[in-house]
Amino acid sequence: MRRNTPHPAVVAIDGPAGSGKSSVSKASARRLHFDFLDTGAAYRALAWFALESGVDPEDSAMVTALLEGFPYAIGTQPDDYFVAVGGTDVTDAIREPRVTAAVSAIARVPEVRHHMVALFRSIIRGTARAGIVVEGRDITTVVAPDADARILLTASEEARMARRSAELSGQSAASVGDALASRDRQDSRVVDFLNAADGVTTIDSTYLDFDQTVQAVVDLVQLRTA
Ligand code: C5P
Repeated sequence: MRRNTPHPAVVAIDGPAGSGKSSVSKASARRLHFDFLDTGAAYRALAWFALESGVDPEDSAMVTALLEGFPYAIGTQPDDYFVAVGGTDVTDAIREPRVTAAVSAIARVPEVRHHMVALFRSIIRGTARAGIVVEGRDITTVVAPDADARILLTASEEARMARRSAELSGQSAASVGDALASRDRQDSRVVDFLNAADGVTTIDSTYLDFDQTVQAVVDLVQLRTA
């Protein structure tokens, strides 16, 4: 995509767990030839690091101490996605239920959020491609409120639970639903990602299939960056 402005185009996508944000963002980035930044992965990697280091995720002082020199790396190319802490590839490990259960406690520590926002902004500035799709909970409001396109991706609670339990085979729909609702409840006390801020376009994917949702994102980005 050609752009008149010199900075990379920034596409900010927020939404609750199970809204399809990650896969939709990655596929949209691929279609646009943009980079892709999964911000939840950084919070998950820090939660994984705390558990590995024997730090109680509820102990905010100890969690904050881990930030110094946190050896985190992420791949921002849609076709070469990885997450690493130190020399360890944690791409799969950060999706384990024990990490998912610990991450909200980590993400509500103000020092952690402050650190992560600075980290995400520096990754966005370093984008080598024409643009970057950044997905999370506070991207449209805190990390990149000036983004070229700002999207809230939602879906009904039933649709989100059904999609998430299809992803996590081996766990019952009820336990997946409970875990998802409890994480959203905890997370929404820290950041409001259930209501679109001013200037943010809501895309409700409840009745859209995956390709239609990606198309809706790509159409909006093309409109905003034309
Ligand atoms: O998106 P994902 O489910 O991987 O996010 C994991 C957790 O990271 C969320 O439950 C939330 O606690 C935190 N998070 C956040 N702000 C973001 C992205 C994720 O607080 N921008």
